[in-house]
Amino acid sequence: MSTPNSAPSTNFIRNIVSEDLASGKTLGRIATRFPPEPNGYLHIGHAKSICLNFGIARDFGGVCHMRFDDTNPTKEDTEYVDSILDTVRWLGFDWGPHLYYASDYFERCYAYAEGLIEAGKAYVDSLSADEIRSHRGSLTEPGKNSPWRDRSVAENLDLFRRMRAGEFADGQHVLRLKIDMASPNLNLRDPAIYRIRHFPHWRTGNTWCIYPMYDYAHALSDAEEHITHSICTLEFEDHRPLYDWVVENTPVPSRPHQYEFARLNLTYTLMSKRKLLELVEEHHVSGWDDPRMPTLVGLRRRGYTPESIRLFCDRIGVSKSDSLIDVSVLEDCLRTDLNERAPRRVAVLDPVRLIIDNYPEGQVELCEVPNHPQKPEWGKRTIPFSRELVIEREDFMASPIKGFFRMVPGGEVRLRYAYVVKCTGFVTDPDSGVVTEIHCDYYPETRSGTPGADAHKVKGNIHWLARDHSRETEVRLYDRLFSDPNPAGAEDYRTLLNPDSIQARPHCRVESALMEALPGECFQFERNGYFVVDSRDAAPGRPVFNRAVTLRDVWAKRS
Ligand code: ATP
Ligand code: MG
Repeated sequence: MSTPNSAPSTNFIRNIVSEDLASGKTLGRIATRFPPEPNGYLHIGHAKSICLNFGIARDFGGVCHMRFDDTNPTKEDTEYVDSILDTVRWLGFDWGPHLYYASDYFERCYAYAEGLIEAGKAYVDSLSADEIRSHRGSLTEPGKNSPWRDRSVAENLDLFRRMRAGEFADGQHVLRLKIDMASPNLNLRDPAIYRIRHFPHWRTGNTWCIYPMYDYAHALSDAEEHITHSICTLEFEDHRPLYDWVVENTPVPSRPHQYEFARLNLTYTLMSKRKLLELVEEHHVSGWDDPRMPTLVGLRRRGYTPESIRLFCDRIGVSKSDSLIDVSVLEDCLRTDLNERAPRRVAVLDPVRLIIDNYPEGQVELCEVPNHPQKPEWGKRTIPFSRELVIEREDFMASPIKGFFRMVPGGEVRLRYAYVVKCTGFVTDPDSGVVTEIHCDYYPETRSGTPGADAHKVKGNIHWLARDHSRETEVRLYDRLFSDPNPAGAEDYRTLLNPDSIQARPHCRVESALMEALPGECFQFERNGYFVVDSRDAAPGRPVFNRAVTLRDVWAKRS
């Protein structure tokens, strides 16, 4: 099994790249690109594409271009651009000087379009969008030619130039390729390559009121940038003939090839940018970076490290068949990574008072605690022990069920790194019946680390903090955003939102030093999971901890 530091596994696309290098097909050059549309935040699915494209460039001595496919001005925003760049860098990849925008090529795309018109390979169609749709035919029926298909070159050129000049309204005309309305491939039935949009572009302002369509602009951008391997997801397989057509019928400076792989689908997770935007806009989550979101900014805030995400992308591999990956694979990659890097600390998430009646009042002892059980080089720290402690409410049962080996009336349990205690009683709130304090006696000869301490055998071993020597802070526990493994398959995914996906615990207790923890710092809270200091809601000296992941897969047990 791969670890965060092992070399990436090979896959069919890497094999193609290797063969193309060996055969000299690409003249020894490898150039890939990652081409997001700046219309949303990147999600874990994009990470798969980023790791693939940038990983190939890194491992085969090539380059990977960062390119924004900014062909739809109505949906794009610089907020998305900034976040996307930041996120790719955070994931550990570098495009060097190769930052491009499809809009860099608007002028050339236009020139190629005039060239296609002059060659009789493109025409201005004046049908409405609905009429174009109804002429298109279906998978079983051929399409019908538009009545405008045979306009003269001169008329087409004149109309196209006037489209550019802004003489027409949105939707009045489109420029279409003249390929074949009877093609079994619908993408070749005279696809539109330009449409009119009187909408300012965030980069080109009001220079353009016609914009190239994705398929056309994408192939041309790849060719302009001398991309060798244009890697995209499987739904573009049917577009490849169009991609090739564009590259073959325009005088572009290079001949890129498109390769498709299966997109990432994850259980319990929505991956559609449109639906993620709805979750944000309808306030089902607190924003794009809500720690329950599958966005990379959300995962980052949740506590995911770049290493854990790269490990995940490596473990799931790249293939051509669609699959649904269990989200527990992602969670497990985070455990694997944080197990290595997270110092151990103690926190009590649901505190209940524990009073040691035979322990001297006012006495404080310092117990030694390792910072990482498998890494003695990380050293030890001390935690104060005193008469009044807090323990986890769930570590006590007044009427224990079979097999419960933690604190029970009359039973003995070890307080980790300290003493064995015997529970002598408990007090409940008369109204609610809730346990308010637990009493016990300790055995002075059982102090951990002293000779003979282990002779006193007990089955349970629980964590604790001294009430007066720990601090209160907020901890947030997260669960899956959806309670169904396939929210994308539902008629309305909103009905599948998990009502318990966030639990804020404002009264947790933590070791005092944790109050100085910085945003993004991660820890293992013993027995409770891996936690990170929230990057948005924490203030200096007042951290808020997000649980990134539990120590074990609790869902495996539930289902
Ligand atoms: P849209 O519906 O807005 O086109 P998109 O998911 O295709 O959304 P892009 O910004 O176009 O978003 O994606 C950039 C790149 O990331 C593309 O090459 C796309 O194939 C890839 N990508 C997107 N989603 C996934 C996914 N789930 N798994 C793998 N790659 C993905
Ligand atoms: Mg896309």
